[in-house]
Amino acid sequence: RQDAAGLAGEEVRRRRVAVVGAGLVGSLAALNFARRGNHVDLYEYREDIRHALVVTGRSINLALSQRGRKALAAVGLEQKILATAIPMRGRMLHDTKGNTRVVIYDPCTQQCLYSVGRRQLNEVLLDACDELPNITCHFNHKLATVNLREGSLEFRNPQPGGEAITTSADLIVGCDGAFSSVRQQLVRLPGFNYSQIYIETGYLELCIPAEAGDFQMPPNYLHIWPRDSFMMIALPNQDRSFTVTLSMPFDMFSKIQTKSQLLDFFRENFGDALPLIGEEQLVKDFFKTKPQHLVSIKCRPYHYEDKALILGDAAHAMVPYYGQGMNAGMEDVTLLTEILDRQLPLDETLAQFTEKRWQDAFAICDLAMYNYVEMRDLTKRWSFRLRKFVDTV
Ligand code: FAD
Repeated sequence: RQDAAGLAGEEVRRRRVAVVGAGLVGSLAALNFARRGNHVDLYEYREDIRHALVVTGRSINLALSQRGRKALAAVGLEQKILATAIPMRGRMLHDTKGNTRVVIYDPCTQQCLYSVGRRQLNEVLLDACDELPNITCHFNHKLATVNLREGSLEFRNPQPGGEAITTSADLIVGCDGAFSSVRQQLVRLPGFNYSQIYIETGYLELCIPAEAGDFQMPPNYLHIWPRDSFMMIALPNQDRSFTVTLSMPFDMFSKIQTKSQLLDFFRENFGDALPLIGEEQLVKDFFKTKPQHLVSIKCRPYHYEDKALILGDAAHAMVPYYGQGMNAGMEDVTLLTEILDRQLPLDETLAQFTEKRWQDAFAICDLAMYNYVEMRDLTKRWSFRLRKFVDTV
């Protein structure tokens, strides 16, 4: 049987689904609910990023892996994204003297990660939402209050003088990120477990611009400058620049107060990257923003009866060092749709989702935390061990 949108799906139940948050996970979730015949209202705090001059927020680019690719393939968008994504076939490690060493991710099957622009990926997902008649996107809608039991939601327009809008839904899906307002209501319910940890490391984004229209470093790698207690990484962008992320303890950030302290620090630790970033640009970008905090969140259950569900960072925010936050959020959607397609009663569907998901979500939060140590510290030792092994062979 075909649903109203002309798409496959046996279960044609006309539920009104309110998806809160039109980020990477929310827009993907909206597509999947709509493709199964539900009426979806997709509410987003920010303006429509497709018309925004500047999009503020988190990382400019992301590593897309198999989990994310599978979810994008399920809605017919994988090839569109891969067409412009930049394959990263391994890590390129930079030592303090400027020597580099390549560690290929998968020499046997050539599997790799892809660097994708956050904005572009979000835009492609939103365009796909626009193509379905049963999705309505509401931008400039900030969820202010929500009653999960009654299924009622109140949004405020964050623009000056913006009015409040009250609405209702059969199912509320919170895809509103690490500081989710929907989750805040779940936290109040008995039996809901929740923990969060802020790590003592912050991050700041810098840029290695294109030079004469080309990349200044080999593009098909995730570049890492591991330095024990801190590190820098760089991912390639389509415009041939690199987005550089400097991660280090907040107390180290706070010791760098002047231009000369900053340049000395870079000369000592990232001597090869300094001329590529450019001294003037480095000083401007470094002092322009404060280092951002990173939080890791575990909670469960992810649902409330047949009335509410949280997905993505709202359910399991993690530190970014495993490159899996978005990928795991997209995998939530893959799992959810697999269970939805079994056409069970909705409360059972959501309960099964929590049951099948929480252990993997907890594990990936732990792996992300572990990989921070691996990347900044063990990468050095690992490359050393590898060299010893190769020498021995
Ligand atoms: P978000 O992207 O946070 O989207 C939430 C949306 O909800 C936003 O659009 C927001 O405006 C909206 N919203 C929030 N509150 C409200 C409200 N009250 N009302 C309405 N709307 C609201 N992951 C990877 O897989 N690979 C990577 O390489 C990677 N790199 C990263 C690098 C950094 C520096 C960081 C910080 C994260 C990285 N991540 C990476 C993680 C990834 O960014 C997140 O896991 C992903 O963005 C989660 O998507 P989401 O849609 O769940 O949440």
